[in-house]
Amino acid sequence: MSLKSEIMPELQTTRLTFLGTGGGRFATMYQARATGGIYLADTLRLHIDPGPSALYNMKRLSIDPIKTDGILLSHCHPDHYSDAEILTEGMSHGGIVKRGALIGSKSVILGEGEFDSPISNYHRSICARVSAVSAGDRFRIGNMVIDATPTQHSDPYGVGFRIHTRNGIISYVSDSEITDKVIAAHRGARVLILNLTRPLCAKVPFHLCTEEAAVFAREIVPEMVILTHLGMKLLREGVDKQVKYIKENSGTRVLAGEDLMKISIGKDITVKRFQDPTNHYTSYPKYD
Ligand SMILES: [Zn+2]
Repeated sequence: MSLKSEIMPELQTTRLTFLGTGGGRFATMYQARATGGIYLADTLRLHIDPGPSALYNMKRLSIDPIKTDGILLSHCHPDHYSDAEILTEGMSHGGIVKRGALIGSKSVILGEGEFDSPISNYHRSICARVSAVSAGDRFRIGNMVIDATPTQHSDPYGVGFRIHTRNGIISYVSDSEITDKVIAAHRGARVLILNLTRPLCAKVPFHLCTEEAAVFAREIVPEMVILTHLGMKLLREGVDKQVKYIKENSGTRVLAGEDLMKISIGKDITVKRFQDPTNHYTSYPKYD
């Protein structure tokens, strides 16, 4: 077998690993779901929004932080950035090699407005590249093109990421409520990742609720919608109910994110669930 035919099947697939599917203050502080972000392996390995438990869940899945090529931080909230400094130490092989790209909103990279950057000067200095991006910017990491997309969130500098992979566009909307501008930025996505914080009949400002997720899905009509960043109230009220509503009201394929779930995107999209999810609460704290 030639080297090419040995390596091509692996290379042709884009893989997403969910190192957490929780979000919001209470789901994060109780780790009702893990909050380690999303690991994307395509021509490069990117870690998107590594919140608390990113490192722990990488260990569980034997994902080596030394192999990460880029860290993307959508905004300056700790459920999205808390493990990022240590991951820069991974990218730079312990700070020995200036390596890897650290890219995020102005608020998280530089500190802006009421936000202080959570990334120290030292940790910035060990990355080969550090960039602050705003909605509408297009940038590259290696040969991969990524668009920074708008959000409507309590960090006004927040962005989402529209990632052009060899298997189509994977859109990560990040924390946002729905607006025409936010929807428009994700048209053409093959996989649409929605941060669904609030369940049915529980809209709050700056986050998506289930009714808005259905509108979003209906407007984009991706091949698959993946729900993540699930908040405490939503977990308590039941994820399946939200999935059913979004399916029925958008006609799209909707997948509820589960911790450590892996998605392979090639000609088809396949889902592999982690066999032993350990952190599923049987009853949830009353906060939301
Ligand atoms: Zn947020």
